[in-house]
Amino acid sequence: MGDPDRTRTFFDIGTVLLYTVGSSLKTYKSQRRQRRGAMISNAQKLTAPNSLIEGMVEGYRYFFNSNGHQGPLVFFGDALDVFERCLKGSDVPNLKAVLPWANENPERLEKILVALGKLEMVNLGEEFSRELATEQLHKKTRKMSVWFQLTDVCNLRCPYCYIHKKSTHMDLELGKVLIGKLVDDSARAGIEEVIIKLAGGEPTLRWSEGRALIDWAENQFSDSSVRVKFHIITNGTILPESLLDYLAAGKLGISVSLDGVGKWHDRHRFYKNGRGSFLDVEKNLEILLSRGLRPPILTTVTRDNLQGDLDPII
Ligand code: SF4
Repeated sequence: MGDPDRTRTFFDIGTVLLYTVGSSLKTYKSQRRQRRGAMISNAQKLTAPNSLIEGMVEGYRYFFNSNGHQGPLVFFGDALDVFERCLKGSDVPNLKAVLPWANENPERLEKILVALGKLEMVNLGEEFSRELATEQLHKKTRKMSVWFQLTDVCNLRCPYCYIHKKSTHMDLELGKVLIGKLVDDSARAGIEEVIIKLAGGEPTLRWSEGRALIDWAENQFSDSSVRVKFHIITNGTILPESLLDYLAAGKLGISVSLDGVGKWHDRHRFYKNGRGSFLDVEKNLEILLSRGLRPPILTTVTRDNLQGDLDPII
């Protein structure tokens, strides 16, 4: 057993340290709140970004900043009241005049505005944006994503596809040269992690080349301070056994496109001959699940499959 007095002293020091760190953090946070509060009242006009898109789904009004970092957002209650007025170009005195609770509780108004500002849904002035950008930069791990388009060939003919189908593929030697450059440039730029995404066309049609690139890159990055990760983005119709082995070994991640269940998927994602691909994708998803792999699902939503039941996917 340890000496109880020593344990107590250690505990007391720990408490003091925690208290000191906790109270400086509190002071820092309250100073930052005050500073942001001042920025907001100085903001001339509270406006929504020009890149804002809005719409209705199943009775809910959603908003999406296409130049921001967030997905679609739905606001309720006081937040919606404030946001709707910002859409019309309100300012803080005006908000306080039209929303009685905001006048009585300016801290709540400030909190809502800061939250909307952090979500990049309301412009709170240049000073606020600058501080937010610096904060985001500090939070981010320095990651870099690189897409390797292994091929322009695909076995499906999705109507929304933007790939011009040609029988061209990425040359393996070119891929190796690119990886060599990534090894040098990422380290020089202070990047911590490089994620290589294998895409297409349908990248599993060139899986042997993809696998060769993974092996090559792992070797090339082995002496680098930069971590390298791999990910394949597939339509899920082809699942080579050796790809399953690589997935099981944790050598790469996988995302599968699925636009709904049954006919809802098949409306978009069919083969050259018009046959839907759902049954093949479903079979391969079951194989992945049976091996303990739960791939993220990528769904393209259009008017054709909007009514489809996404519950079984989610
Ligand atoms: S699976 Fe992908 S690459 Fe192939 S047609 Fe569909 S969207 Fe295009």
